[in-house]
Amino acid sequence: MANNTVIPSTKISIIPERNRGKPWFDDGNVILMSNDRFEPMAFRVYKGMVAQHSPMLRAKLENGVTDVVYGCPAVQMDDCTAADLCNFLTFVHGCERSLQLNSKHDFATLIGVLRIATKYKADALRKRALRPLERIYPPELSEWDDNFESHSMIWHLDPVAVINVARELSALSILPAAMAFLANSTLAQEAFGASILQTQPLRFAPGLLSGFDLKGFTLMKEYNHTSISKTLHFIREQAKERHGSCQRLDGCATKFTAAFIALCVAAATSEGPAGYPSFVITVQGVLQREEFCGSCQDRVELGLQRRRRAWWRGLPGALGFSGWDDARLR
Ligand SMILES: [Zn+2]
Repeated sequence: MANNTVIPSTKISIIPERNRGKPWFDDGNVILMSNDRFEPMAFRVYKGMVAQHSPMLRAKLENGVTDVVYGCPAVQMDDCTAADLCNFLTFVHGCERSLQLNSKHDFATLIGVLRIATKYKADALRKRALRPLERIYPPELSEWDDNFESHSMIWHLDPVAVINVARELSALSILPAAMAFLANSTLAQEAFGASILQTQPLRFAPGLLSGFDLKGFTLMKEYNHTSISKTLHFIREQAKERHGSCQRLDGCATKFTAAFIALCVAAATSEGPAGYPSFVITVQGVLQREEFCGSCQDRVELGLQRRRRAWWRGLPGALGFSGWDDARLR
């Protein structure tokens, strides 16, 4: 029966080595216990380092004591897994280092911190944990451009995991950009876990995205399609007649016609996911090849920028929000 004397039963007298998580400080002054059903873990840490982050955490450490082990008050942390506690406690004992997001391990750390900070209303900590995610899936177009063009972390961070975290922790500020990225980089059949003429294994298991978010994903796809159509219409408009400011004697209209046809063919023959951000890159490549006069070049670039900003402004609407200023996105 010796093994049954460990956590989470009350009147604990010892905590065996295998049930000690990291961090475990021999001179720590409080023991926090995870709520895992089969293999609960205990963490011996410094009360002040944990309690400073929210009145709710302080109250929990002061009023939630169920045992005294090695002279330390022991507190059962309801609904906290050993993994989340490990990540959270390692971070809060890490001398204010900043949260990174350079690997899957960093992502797990960040989610652990975010989950416990949210549960115990540690608002400043929650904000800090959200910041690296917001840098990758930002609420600003300029930041999105930096990420998208630099092909940075955004290519390695699973947007489905981010969308699920955004929902679980009501961190909706990252949702529009994460969904925009997913819709741009993922075929509908992959997101739905269906296989249509698919030769590659599916990247996502069926059911990984909630039904609600699959709806958002589908609407985002349609929004992308509409945005692509609007941009094609804009290019075609340029081809209708010689523009007053055109500097070329024979005009740039035929070049715009050529660009329009090339883009229609590109859009119609693409077998990849139809996404507006990727389409914009195709547009820029085609327009560069056509060598318009300076005036037409400037005009079309301004027009494209306007359309891109309009696309960005409409992203939250495609997911059922009123706009970027919707209170739920703050
Ligand atoms: Zn011109």
